[in-house]
Amino acid sequence: MPRYDYDLITIGGGSGGVRASRVAASLGARVALVETAALGGTCVNAGCIPKKLFSYAAGFASDFGDAAGYGWQVPGPRFDWKALRIAKDREISRLNGVYAKLLGDAGVQVVEGRAMIRDAHAVEVAGRRLSAEHLLVATGGRAVRPDIPGAELGITSDEAFHLEALPCRALLVGGGYIAVEFASIFSGLGVETTLVHRGSRLLRGFDEDIADVLSGELRRQGVTLLLDESPARVAREGGALRVTLASGRELASDLLMFATGRRPNIKGLGLEAAGVAVAKNGAVQVDDRYRSAVPSVHAVGDVIGRVQLTPVALAEGAALARTLFGGQPSTVDYANIPTAIFSHPHVGTVGLAEDEARRRFPEVKVYRSSFRPLKATLSGDAGKVFIKLVVDAASDRVLGAHMVGAEAGEIIQGLAVAMNCGATKAQFDTTIGIHPTTAEEFVTLRG
Ligand code: FAD
Ligand code: NDP
Repeated sequence: MPRYDYDLITIGGGSGGVRASRVAASLGARVALVETAALGGTCVNAGCIPKKLFSYAAGFASDFGDAAGYGWQVPGPRFDWKALRIAKDREISRLNGVYAKLLGDAGVQVVEGRAMIRDAHAVEVAGRRLSAEHLLVATGGRAVRPDIPGAELGITSDEAFHLEALPCRALLVGGGYIAVEFASIFSGLGVETTLVHRGSRLLRGFDEDIADVLSGELRRQGVTLLLDESPARVAREGGALRVTLASGRELASDLLMFATGRRPNIKGLGLEAAGVAVAKNGAVQVDDRYRSAVPSVHAVGDVIGRVQLTPVALAEGAALARTLFGGQPSTVDYANIPTAIFSHPHVGTVGLAEDEARRRFPEVKVYRSSFRPLKATLSGDAGKVFIKLVVDAASDRVLGAHMVGAEAGEIIQGLAVAMNCGATKAQFDTTIGIHPTTAEEFVTLRG
């Protein structure tokens, strides 16, 4: 008779929890996964997937203009928000089903409900006690709003995916991934869009050239960027909202969306009572094998507050399962994590920003290029592509690759492989380009 009901109980059926559970089951573990909402978590239901579908929709705005330059007559296209929302919801439901099937096929038992940790080996779900040798907290994050009067009148990205109608005017607060992506989505779909950011530059932590180029592109496309400004209070005024900024400036908008960061989702989990150490911002404290202060309780993904990206949660989940059930102690290498922002144009980046490289290396060489892509010659689009390599002068190793332009994520993904292999600038230079592409510019950059 086994001592516990399961070998692993996972709390949270998002990117990290599902991957850990499936890998654990494939290694022979008896696994239950508890999920209180829809399978797939943030990425599938209110993150990467619906966001990118909306981003594709917004991209058509300029595609129609480009098509005309190539001889296509596109008479007055009209956009139907409800049709997009319904199509998106249908796709998300399909994905929820795919996740249920993947888990079922792997032999993972899915338990519906909200889990609370009772002790080092037990959780409670809807009055039922379930026990396991190991518990995994993979409960993700939740959006936070600034603590200002009237903040409840604004929405977060969670609600943005379900708007009944598109507003005429949208005001976004924040200067990170979500603010920038939704600025492009709303603006592309014809909404008069304003972005208010407390910093003097968007995208803190990204290469500064990248942030500046993207800001220029957003402005060129008609997004109003208000930097060094923060909302101080919000009030309803007739059918609209009045947002007063700390500077005293007043803005009227039909929609206010906060994209001011996400915090670990640990409310009501019973972590502290179980002895699990939690940081001030709510992040579950784990070691490099994802083990918490209670040796049988582990955590991966957004809830550990390291890198809030789906592929990172997936990698952490797989590493944990291999550690616990594969006899293969594993962790994730957090260097050179590539990432993309699906604004218009896209941002893609991997490795060190120039300022970070200058802090860490005695001498750094920087190569940049800004050019109009071939497609723009006939379309007439004024947007430029920007690419940049940051190189350690001593070893010639490429430390960072950055891009603003169409399909930047697709291009940077390949460069991330090269950088993980320690590629030098000389090796980039001896690589034959694919002509005519934007990507070839990365192998023809000269000082
Ligand atoms: P989640 O996916 O959030 O899953 C946690 C799950 O736990 C949820 O399903 C929740 O319902 C469940 N849960 C919570 N508490 C309990 C409980 N007590 N009992 C049972 N279940 C519980 N990342 C990218 O890489 N690319 C992108 O393009 C991208 N776009 C994004 C866009 C938006 C708008 C947002 C918000 C995020 C985006 N992300 C993106 C980030 C990505 O979604 C997260 O990093 C990823 O989902 C984290 O996975 P996770 O497993 O840690 O948590
Ligand atoms: P980010 O951390 O990227 O950005 C938060 C922004 O809000 C920052 O500009 C921050 O300013 C600002 N901010 C924070 N608090 C306040 C405040 N009280 N008042 C005014 N401004 C404030 O978070 P997001 O919410 O955009 O996204 C959460 C995470 O989800 C991302 O970090 C990313 O990891 C992930 N994500 C990934 C995507 C992708 O891969 N394409 C897309 C969307 C999300 P400051 O810089 O000054 O701190």
